[in-house]
This record gives sequence, C-alpha cells and structure tokens, in this order.
Amino acid sequence: MRILVLNAGSSSLKFNLFEMSPDSEQRLAKGEVERVSGMEDAIKSVFDQLGAETVEAVGHRVVHGGDLFHQSVIIDAEVEKGIDELSVLAPLHNPHNLEAYRAARDRLPGAIQVAVFDTAFHRTLPACAYAYGLPWEFLTEKKIRRYGFHGISHRYVSWRFAQLHGKTRADYRMITCHLGNGCSVCAIDRGKSIDTSMGFTPLEGLIMGARSGDVDAGAILHLITHECIAPSLLLRALNSSSGLMGLSGVSNDMRDLQRAAGSGNDRARLAIDAFCYRVRKYIGAYLAAMNGADVLIFAGGIGENAPVIRAEICAGLDGLGITIDENANESDSREPRQIGKSSIPVWVVPTDEELLIARDTMRCILHIPHD
Ligand code: ADP
Repeated sequence: MRILVLNAGSSSLKFNLFEMSPDSEQRLAKGEVERVSGMEDAIKSVFDQLGAETVEAVGHRVVHGGDLFHQSVIIDAEVEKGIDELSVLAPLHNPHNLEAYRAARDRLPGAIQVAVFDTAFHRTLPACAYAYGLPWEFLTEKKIRRYGFHGISHRYVSWRFAQLHGKTRADYRMITCHLGNGCSVCAIDRGKSIDTSMGFTPLEGLIMGARSGDVDAGAILHLITHECIAPSLLLRALNSSSGLMGLSGVSNDMRDLQRAAGSGNDRARLAIDAFCYRVRKYIGAYLAAMNGADVLIFAGGIGENAPVIRAEICAGLDGLGITIDENANESDSREPRQIGKSSIPVWVVPTDEELLIARDTMRCILHIPHD
C-alpha cells in the first residue's frame, strides 16, 4: 500500500512516501516544501517532486486531538469538524493540518486519509498529572488541562527501544526526551504515558528553540496589566522570540548557540545552561513520578546530534544512577545506541514520526490494532 505522510506547519510542508504492508516497510521518498504560501500549491509541489506517483492513502500529523481523539482515525466529515473545533486549542497548528487534509483530498479524491494525533499517546495521563490547580469549572467546562504533545515521537522511540530488546514498551519504565525545535520529556510507565512536560499547549515545560517553556502565569498577567502588552503580542513573543532565541539573542538553533558560547558569548552560554538545567529538572521529576526508571532515551535534532548537550544534561545525575560514557556519547552513528551503562542505561534512539504515521495509516485501513 503506497502511503503519503504529510506534516504541515505554518511555513513548511514535510512529506514522506512509503510502501507499506503488515510485514514490510519501505521509505521511497522524503522532502519538504518550504515557504508555503498556499496549501494547494504546496501539495502540487509535493506531487511534482514525487513524479507521477499513485498514492492510495495519506497520513496526516495532527497536533491537537483534545479529548475527542484518543487514537488515529480515518478522516470523515465528523472527524474533520472535530479537528476544526480543536483549532481554538491549537491555533498555530490544527488549521494548517486541516488545510493540508483538504488540499490532499481535492488532489486525491479516491485516497483514504488518516489523522494521527500528537496528543493521543498522552490520553493515559492520570488526573493528578493532567489537572492544573485551577477552579474546577475551568477543567470541566473550559477543558483547561494538560494534554501533552510530541506523542508520536515518544511513542515511536519507546516502541523502537523495546523492539530492539525483543520486548514491549510495557516491560519498562522509560524517560524519553524529545529535544528538537520543540522539546518535551515524557514519563512512560510500563507502556503508558503518565506525565509529559508540554501541557494545555506545546508552550509548557522545557525551554525550546523559540518557545518559553514554563513561566509563572503571574508574570504573563503582569505584562498584560502593568506593561500593557497586548495578548496577541505576548502570544507571538512566547512562541517565536523566547526560549533559546530569546535568552541568547543569537538564534533558535542549538548549533549557532554552541558556536557563540564557544567564542565567549555569555547570553548564549546562559541559554544553553538554562536549557540543560530544565531538562535535568524534568528527568528528576519523572524519576520521582515512576519511583525510578529502566532507561533514559534521547531523540530529536538536539537529542540525537548534540553529545555536548546530552553530557551537560546528564552531568551530576550519577547520584540518581545516570552517567554517560564519553566515548559512546561522542560516536556520530545514526543508529539507536547505548551511550551510558549506568544503573539507568542511557540511549540515543533516532525518532521517525513519519514511519509511525504511515504505520497507523495502514493499520486504520486494515483494521489492525495500534500498539
Ligand atoms: P523539529 O522539532 O523542527 O523537527 P529537529 O528535531 O530537526 O526539529 O531539531 C532541530 C534542532 O536540532 C535545532 O536546534 C538544531 O540546532 C539541532 N541540531 C541539529 N543537529 C545538531 C548538531 N549536530 N548539534 C547540535 N544541535 C543540532
């Protein structure tokens, strides 16, 4: 079955083409359309790049499934409406995902389309982890709670680690760190996500490329009421000019920060230190949440490619059973690999969100249960 996977962002459309069957998986092509002006043009450009490929099904990454979607689903009119309604919770993401769906449907009227949600893996969060300490009606009526994101990546790397060991996710307590432009940590207790650092939106938790991560809500209220900063400006500031970018003033790209810090830029140094400290703090929190862990896993652009950052995150965690082996950590292999043999082993497991979306798409169509 030929499956096209689309991951639509605000300014880019990433695509992958797979040939999938229940017992074989092959990636045929991958690419990205940048500076997307309209989704129809972007889809046209995808097919221009693919040549005259026939596509039987399309899998879409959809960021917010709210409390409507607990697993991947074939998109019909009702699902489309649901994703649309959830746009209020993810105004920077869901509208683009929906636009990609509609453009693909117009281009491929005969293809089955499937939505794979970034929130779905976290549906197992217990109430004590998803409830904010807010008035009860905020939770029950306004649905203000922690949803968690990056579930596709946390689910993929936890599956991959277990698969490499001939086991299942349910055999382990795992802490998975997805560190890319967006960053989150997840506590996976014997197969179930029981806590994760992103919350109601992908803004909570770690310091990210351009997103703030955790900030006292009181500070935001202060900026609105006393500094008269409009909420729309704050939305942009918190999502696009905070995090590594905001602290350093240099870039949202960790490589630029490492270069700048190396040549003595103090703000770049602070940004890196604050980034690593925040990840370390969440690892500690999730060790407490699960009464320990059987493995710590790094993934994402930074998690997979930045040994110095991994080392800084894990520095001083030997008291909790986490140390990194310097030589293994420096290896630039692309494969899943162990980088620490401490009582809690440390691994790098390259993520592959697109492959998981292709798998879910196939399974929805063939009625095979998801793992
Ligand atoms: P996205 O979240 O958009 O999918 P990625 O997972 O590709 O992003 O991660 C992008 C981040 O990974 C950027 O901050 C980039 O600097 C960082 N990165 C990629 N390669 C390296 C590297 N060799 N060293 C340090 N950081 C890296």
